[in-house]
Amino acid sequence: MPNTLTWANTLTSLFLAALAMATLTRLWLAQRQLRHVRAHRGAVPPLFAEAIPLEAHQKAADYTVAKACLGMVEIALDAIVILALTLGGGIELLSRSWAQVFAPGSLAHGAALLFSLVLVQALISLPLSAYRIFGIEQRFGFNRMTLRLFLSDLTKQALLVVVLGLPLILAVLWLMQHMGGLWWLCVWLTLTAFTIVLQLIFPALILPLFNKFTPLAEGELSRRVVALLQRCGFKVRGLYVMDGSKRSSHGNAFFAGFGATKRIVLFDTLVSRLEPPEVEAVLAHELGHYKLHHIAKMIALNAAMTLGGLWILGQLIDKPWFYSGLGVATPSTAAALVLFMLVVPQFTFFLHPLASHFSRKHEFEADAYAVGNADATKLVQALVKLYRDNASTLTPDPLHSAFYDSHPPAATRIARLRTA
Ligand SMILES: [Zn+2]
Repeated sequence: MPNTLTWANTLTSLFLAALAMATLTRLWLAQRQLRHVRAHRGAVPPLFAEAIPLEAHQKAADYTVAKACLGMVEIALDAIVILALTLGGGIELLSRSWAQVFAPGSLAHGAALLFSLVLVQALISLPLSAYRIFGIEQRFGFNRMTLRLFLSDLTKQALLVVVLGLPLILAVLWLMQHMGGLWWLCVWLTLTAFTIVLQLIFPALILPLFNKFTPLAEGELSRRVVALLQRCGFKVRGLYVMDGSKRSSHGNAFFAGFGATKRIVLFDTLVSRLEPPEVEAVLAHELGHYKLHHIAKMIALNAAMTLGGLWILGQLIDKPWFYSGLGVATPSTAAALVLFMLVVPQFTFFLHPLASHFSRKHEFEADAYAVGNADATKLVQALVKLYRDNASTLTPDPLHSAFYDSHPPAATRIARLRTA
């Protein structure tokens, strides 16, 4: 019979192996992306030669390289932080410090531990996200954010984390401590309900905290959109233009909410840069995602993964080796939760290609839907404009792309649309 110490040592080794493998793979993929994009910097791929000037192609390459370099720093920092918090004793230290203030194992102690960890991670990633916006995005001419707006966003986000997160955390910790062997099911039901409520209140209560929404003005675009919605048998609560240009010049379109709160949101940057038939084609693609239940499928898949994860945690939570193997000497429900959230992604990292594959499949399906309900050539034109204006690379490393990309590579996608 293996004893606790053996189990703990096995877990430590497994965790270290997974962390090392995931980190090295991430660095290796980033390195491949850098090399591939640099190697193809000199010439625009033939498919785009007419529409995209060499200068824009080179800007996209430099932008991709700059982001990948920052990404590598983030990967390394991530690994260091995870090690410091777990085996390095960070969680244990925080847990003991809070035990001076709150009764160890109490709800207040658990919530304090969780919140202080969120705070530590946020503080560590803050300089990098500031550099991303004011360094990289600024240098490539995408940033519209002022320091004042950055700080006001940060404050609002922090308040939201407290207002929405604190009741949730308290509920989860309480259920974990009082629901016996089936706590994982109760927590799952709570999290699922919370996600659904969040989706419902998001467009009406949360988004307006950060952006202004104005109803889409009467004109060719609104006529086209209304006709498209009718053609596709789609009812929405409203058509809005969002002032995305307040933060960035990247363009986008999305749906928010579902059921009675469902609305369509177009970034002002998209409306100003694309012709009405092009916006219509992009919107037809987004409608495709909705009509083909991609969003519902992703939510269901996430819920299933969460259920599986919580069940596993349910098996581990009363095993002393689960804590000692990951650097925590004083077990608590909050510590179990934190460990799980830090450690599991190291193991599930290798599922990334599968998730990306399904996402790309959905993109192709939404494109096919768009072709059936709008003009395919307009969608191609719109995508090429978006690739150009967003400085998206046209020459990603194939392996990097297969691993991470939620969207098919530009060339594959356009080629398929042209033959549609
Ligand atoms: Zn899509």
